[in-house]
Formats: sequence, structure tokens, C-alpha cells
Amino acid sequence: MIAVKGFENQTVAVLGLGRSGRATIAALVAGGANVLAWDDSQPARAQAEAEGITLRDFSRDGALDGVAALIVSPGIPHLYPAPNPAIAQALLAGIPVDNDIGLFFRSFGSADFAAFDSPPKVIAVTGSNGKSTTSALLHHILLECGRPSQLAGNIGTGVLSITPPQDGEVIVLELSSYQTELARALTPDIAVFTNLTPDHLERHGGQGGYFAAKRRLFAEGGPDRAIIGVDEVEGQFLANQLSEGLHDDRLISISANRKLAGEGWSVFARKGFLSEYRKGRQMASVDLRAVSGLPGTHNHQNACAAYAAARSLGIGPRQIEAALHSYPGLPHRSQLVAEENGIRFINDSKATNVDSAAKALQAFDRIRWICGGLQKEGGLDALHPHLGRVVKAYVIGREATDFARQLPGIDAEICTTMAVAVARAAAEAQSGEVVLLAPACASFDQYDNFEERGADFVAAVTGNLS
Ligand code: ADP
Repeated sequence: MIAVKGFENQTVAVLGLGRSGRATIAALVAGGANVLAWDDSQPARAQAEAEGITLRDFSRDGALDGVAALIVSPGIPHLYPAPNPAIAQALLAGIPVDNDIGLFFRSFGSADFAAFDSPPKVIAVTGSNGKSTTSALLHHILLECGRPSQLAGNIGTGVLSITPPQDGEVIVLELSSYQTELARALTPDIAVFTNLTPDHLERHGGQGGYFAAKRRLFAEGGPDRAIIGVDEVEGQFLANQLSEGLHDDRLISISANRKLAGEGWSVFARKGFLSEYRKGRQMASVDLRAVSGLPGTHNHQNACAAYAAARSLGIGPRQIEAALHSYPGLPHRSQLVAEENGIRFINDSKATNVDSAAKALQAFDRIRWICGGLQKEGGLDALHPHLGRVVKAYVIGREATDFARQLPGIDAEICTTMAVAVARAAAEAQSGEVVLLAPACASFDQYDNFEERGADFVAAVTGNLS
């Protein structure tokens, strides 16, 4: 655990008593703070009370008197569509609002670092899609190359729950826009921006607010090195603003679809090959076509980002290449669940928006596509260019009929449940085809989360094949 600094003998309010809230409380107490906590859910409060946590309803008048800061969990709206009442109170009273990420950055460095040969570093990864894959892949590369590393943030361990770092350790943090928007300290050594497509627009007041939230990771602390995906205009703008000029090595530009061979430092993937260029010269090339754990252009973008971060730490191209080959993949992201009679079953339940589903469709040919669920804003138009690869769609979710209606020229069967969709797809699939779960929707109409949806797919596949 990282003990939180700066609040010794002060009272800190914690809003949200889920996993990250409770870890935050433990880290605050370890740092000598007195903690008051609240959660709008009664069961969460009852559990916290049983653990000896003192409760206080912060939305009541005067409840925040004497409080040094209000620490908020990422699921709780702090601005749009409207701040949670407790946060609204803190804003009116001028009490600093922060989150566990802000506490982490202000508490990470310790006196022990002075005795280390190589001070621990933090690499933070943000972007609309590919954060988890890029973070997990980078963590894997580091471990394979003999560098101590921990993976934390939105993936794996909560930031404040990591083990205090050892000499030369690299902490890889996956950060969401909710987290970067609120954190009062954001000082990674290296920061990565994978890409930007519309998502979470309600929480950020639109696309501009969403981009601004992610942009803070680069603007607030000024990382030593920024790795930026430049396949959208927002990434191009960010790279342009961060770079002092053509030769500026503090920036590494990433592309998944075009050659970036200017004077600066770049890593790009084209036709299945990753290339690294520096000062106008090619430094290395890696054949990604044979890397089975990272199929598709979108995963090649993730590979470029993780490769660039590892290169920034001085790891050699051939070592990184070997680690790419041994990357096992993450559950629910292009996960190969089974292969039988030449038919592959792929779980990409994490494709919760239209863009990530479009990327999944591009990664395979001849697809039996399981799709649908709770639709997000913006419609399905971005999927249309890739529907040529779909042999047939098997639509799930409560709005299955409406979803199917938006798939022009596609043979679509309304299945509603996962069990029916998998049974139908498995019965009709031919050798060489892929049964792909890539819903393009949130899961909340039928499941608690995308993990549960993915597990249901895996169970249905296993059941059908046995
Ligand atoms: P995040 O943590 O940003 O949600 P993940 O690595 O968990 O990203 O991938 C989420 C989904 O997005 C995956 O299911 C996959 O279909 C898709 N995806 C992964 N990487 C990318 C990328 N670089 N660009 C677009 N889509 C991607």
C-alpha cells in the first residue's frame, strides 16, 4: 500500500465505498488522516460500518465543515450531467475535490528512492480504446525483459494498493477520462494517448470535454516523454502542442495505418509490420502478422504504443519482439475461447462501443457476429463500412429488433439471449469462419458488466461444444 501524504491529523472525506474507495480509506488512515465516508447505497454503507469506517452524509448542510479534501470514486459524476450532491456542497464550500489518482501522485515518491540506482517510474496510459491492452502488454514486456513492474489503476490493483516500488521498478497505470479529469496531481514520467473516439459524452459535456479530460494527463504534469496516437485530429493536435519542433525526442508519434517517417521519433504499423523511425532513419522493424495474441489493426496500434514506451525505457527491439510473441492476451478482448472444426470462437465483450466493435470486425474475415445490447449515443453508422465481413448477425439484448433494423443488407436473426445466439451461430458456422462476440453496446440491459457478458458467452460456447 502507498500511505497518503499531506493529511496527517486532518479529516478527509471519502465519497464512494466500492473497491477503490475502501482502498483509498486504508491508504489515508496509513498516512495518519482521520476519515469520514459516505456512499449513496445502503448496503455499501452497512459493509463499511461493519469494517469500522465512520459514516457521514456529506450532502447535509455543514457536513463538510473542517474537512481538508473530498476524495471521490470514478463512478460518481463530479460535473456533468450534474455533480453528486456531496460534490456540489464541496464545490460551494471551496473544499478541494480529488481522487485516488491525485493522492497517488502526491504520495508516490519516498525517501527510500534516494538510495536507489534507478528511481521508480510511472507510465500512464489513456485513450478511448486499447488502454487495458496497451497497459497489460507493456507490463508483460517489462516483466519478460526482467524489469520489476506493477499494473494498476483502472486495471488490476487500485493505485494506492500497489506494493511500495523497488529499485528500477516501473508502475504501469491505466487511467480513464473520469480519473484524469479530476486528479489534482498527474505527474507520470511517460504518458501514452492511444486514440480518441466519442464515448462517455454525458459525463464530459460532449466530445470537447472528453478530450480535455484526457489532455490533462499531458498538460498538467508535463511528462518527460509523451507517446501519442496521431490517427485522429485530436491526437495530431495534442502532438503538435507538445512538440517543440521536428526533432523533439520527447514525443513519439504512433500510427496504426500510415507511415510516419519525418525527423522526429515515430512508431507505426502498416500491412502487419511495425516500424520504428528516428531522425528520418528506420531503427527497427517487427513482423506483427505472426503475433497471435494481438490480432487486427487496432491491436497493432496497441503494440506500437507499448513498443514505444518500452523503447523509451531503453529496452531493445528484439527483446520487445520476443515479449510480443509471448503476450497471452486479456479476457474479453479479442480472446480466443475455442477452436473446433476450423471455427474460431472469439470473445470481444469489451467492445462496448461502435468504434471498438468496428475494429474487432476489421480483425477477422467471414464473421458470425453476436452483437447488440444497450446502445450508446451516435448510432451504428461507423459499423457500416465493415459489414461486408459479416456472414450473419445474431442479435442479443432487449433492443435487439431495433439494433437489427440498423444493419442494412445484413442477414440478422433476433436471438435476444446469449444462449440462443451462440447455439444458432455454432450450428450455422462453417470451417474458416469466426463466431465473434463484439456487441457494440453496453451490457447493462442484461448483465452487471461486460465481464459477466463475456463469461456468459464463454459458458455458452463451452456448453455447445461439449
Ligand atoms: P480500454 O481499456 O481502453 O477499454 P481495451 O484494451 O480493454 O481498451 O479494449 C477495449 C475494446 O476496444 C476491445 O474489445 C477491442 O475490440 C477494442 N480495441 C482494443 N484496442 C483498440 C484500439 N487501439 N483501437 C480501437 N479499438 C480497440
